[in-house]
Amino acid sequence: MQILVTGGAGFIGSHLCKKLLENGDTVYCVDNLISGSKHNIEALMQNPRFIFINHDVIQSLNIDVEIDQMYHLASPASPNHHSKISYHALALETMLVNTTGTLELLNLAKKHDAQFLFASTSEIYGDPEVHPQPETYQGSVHTTGPRSVYDEAKRFGETIISYFWREHNVNARIVRIFNTYGPNMLVEDKRMIVNFILQALADKPLTVYGDGSQSRSLCYVSDTVEGLMRLMNYPDTSQEIVNIGAQEEHTVLEYAHMIKKLTNSKSEIVMSEQLPEDDPKQRQPDIAKAKKLLNWEPTVTLEHGLQKTIEYFQDRTKN
Ligand code: NAD
Ligand code: UDP
Repeated sequence: MQILVTGGAGFIGSHLCKKLLENGDTVYCVDNLISGSKHNIEALMQNPRFIFINHDVIQSLNIDVEIDQMYHLASPASPNHHSKISYHALALETMLVNTTGTLELLNLAKKHDAQFLFASTSEIYGDPEVHPQPETYQGSVHTTGPRSVYDEAKRFGETIISYFWREHNVNARIVRIFNTYGPNMLVEDKRMIVNFILQALADKPLTVYGDGSQSRSLCYVSDTVEGLMRLMNYPDTSQEIVNIGAQEEHTVLEYAHMIKKLTNSKSEIVMSEQLPEDDPKQRQPDIAKAKKLLNWEPTVTLEHGLQKTIEYFQDRTKN
């Protein structure tokens, strides 16, 4: 198949492109490198079935081959206000890629009669009052808070998709991805896992925000990619909205301790600053729908996934 992946040079996108190439597909990776890196796709560039297109998907894209499937993953994704590639630093770009970009790409999908998958997020549930979060939960999002540039853009992205279901009969689906981690996250991304691993490897203090009692459930990237591909390829998935994420839930403080232990680090764990505004206190997906519809659930243990990620950052920080 001929498959277009937006955000293919990013963390999740680069793993997806690799898997699609292994399956024998031809991959058109469309990325403007705003929060991704050529390093993530260096090895893929050797494959003649991998075509990199440096393009901002906010602008319309003309492609002169028939496209069968489109995965729309392009968007800054880090919430960390210390990161220069966070959705705070790239607020306008984030709002536009998930709205105008989604609209442009859906028009392209319609033209090509291609199947479409939109990467939405657990953030559309905001700071949730329902726990764990099922797809039917409508969320608790602060429309003008600091995270709204991402959360509300993703929510409007979902609205645009639903319009294309209703009015244009486009074969589209929405995946709500929960915290995913693994190799190819960028050092400057500064999400929790990246920060804690890099700090632990350098024997520097692990910076816990707030008192560390807020919780997250972490899914290893190969499991997330498998979920995305099943949602695209399983029959009768058009118009479906599915949570993809892990259910094993820990507090941020527990993750700090786990990483310190796995890296044999001498680092201290410090409560370095206040919890950022609107930082969700708890997060865990209800994945009953993914299990039933896609026969999907995570397979990689947290310890194994963390070890692979630690090895990756050990390699990246050598010299
Ligand atoms: P990432 O920042 O590593 O990758 C995103 C990629 O999109 C980058 O390579 C970036 O350069 C590219 N991009 C951004 N704007 C673009 C534009 N206008 N045109 C072309 N390319 C553009 O992020 P990620 O963690 O791999 O996330 C991928 C997708 O999954 C995002 O849509 C994100 O919102 C969603 N998601 C991720 C997580 C997670 O835990 N990683 C959780 C929920 C949702
Ligand atoms: N966090 C932290 N220290 C850091 C980075 C993040 O305590 O150095 C916290 C952050 O406030 C949040 C959790 O870890 O409560 C997960 O943050 P991440 O950046 O991974 O993304 P989020 O799950 O908030 O989207």
